[in-house]
Amino acid sequence: MITQEADGWQVPEWRRQQADLVTDLDQLCELLELDRADLAAGADPASDFPLRVPRAYLDRIEKGNPADPLLRQVLAHRDERREVPGYGPDPLDESAHTPVPGVLHKYHGRALLVVTGACAVHCRYCFRRHFPYQTHLSGGRWRAALDWLARREDIQEVILSGGDPLTLSNGRLRQLLDELAALPHLRRLRVHTRTPVVLPARLDQELVELLARPRWRTTVVFHANHAREISPQLAMACADLGAAGVTLLNQSVLLAGVNDDSDALVALSEALHEARVLPYYLHQLDAVAGAAHFAVDDRRALALVREMRGRLPGFLVPRLAREEPGEDAKTVLAG
Ligand SMILES: *Cc1c(COP(=O)(O)O)cnc(C)c1O
Ligand code: SF4
Repeated sequence: MITQEADGWQVPEWRRQQADLVTDLDQLCELLELDRADLAAGADPASDFPLRVPRAYLDRIEKGNPADPLLRQVLAHRDERREVPGYGPDPLDESAHTPVPGVLHKYHGRALLVVTGACAVHCRYCFRRHFPYQTHLSGGRWRAALDWLARREDIQEVILSGGDPLTLSNGRLRQLLDELAALPHLRRLRVHTRTPVVLPARLDQELVELLARPRWRTTVVFHANHAREISPQLAMACADLGAAGVTLLNQSVLLAGVNDDSDALVALSEALHEARVLPYYLHQLDAVAGAAHFAVDDRRALALVREMRGRLPGFLVPRLAREEPGEDAKTVLAG
């Protein structure tokens, strides 16, 4: 669902990388030197949430390894079709917290804007994989959300989300930030994104300048789940963002077969720290239909966090959290 937006006459490098995609299972297998028969007999070429992997991300997947933790995050699996009790299309009851299209408002002082439905990559565990983006983004895109925000002086923090807000061009982001900057009650800007994890080139100088505006305190929350996703290019871009005064955090999802062992989680925290990013949340999986095969039970999750505590400084241990519909904050289980 990527809409191409021209940024003047020159196509930025990240745009080129974003468009250089693998969407075909046979091509994926060929590039990764995998035999389809090795893919746990489970890869699903006909998923309704299609395979979408930029080659820049593919380069970090180990060739010939059907169990690679990065591969597992992007490869549609037949288990996704299994109906599992308790797993549904809207596990967080987001539709009940939509005051106007494009806004999710659950927590005090913070509002989340759904600014696009596009993502650089399709993550199999995505809790918004069944999200009704068309109802949020139809018609006068953003207008209703901006008008709502203008009236809500109790909101101090706006969170750009989606989809992935950094799939928007710098030009579109600038338009949005200009509108938001005119609302005097907004003190904090937060951007939740996985795009730079997949395409570090997205953090170009123009974006760094946009995010570092002195208008407010900006926090970027990356969504990385594995140490190998923190590439040297991402670390370099983070150094620029950090130097520009942007606070850098990461949230991950605890995913069976991806990061559900303490070595993987410790390595992730260490790699984040090297890149000047602090771990924020480690989320228990949201019960979205199609993702049950990624679930890790709470006992195991708590044991993993205890192991992290024994091996890392406190500031590198993320808060293990779950989102429970109807609560006034995310539920912290540990950390
Ligand atoms: C997760 C979430 C937030 C942010 O919660 P924090 O605990 O501040 O990170 C805000 N709004 C919505 C709707 C959310 O789902
Ligand atoms: S980038 Fe985020 S919103 Fe997009 S598919 Fe992945 S988890 Fe879902």
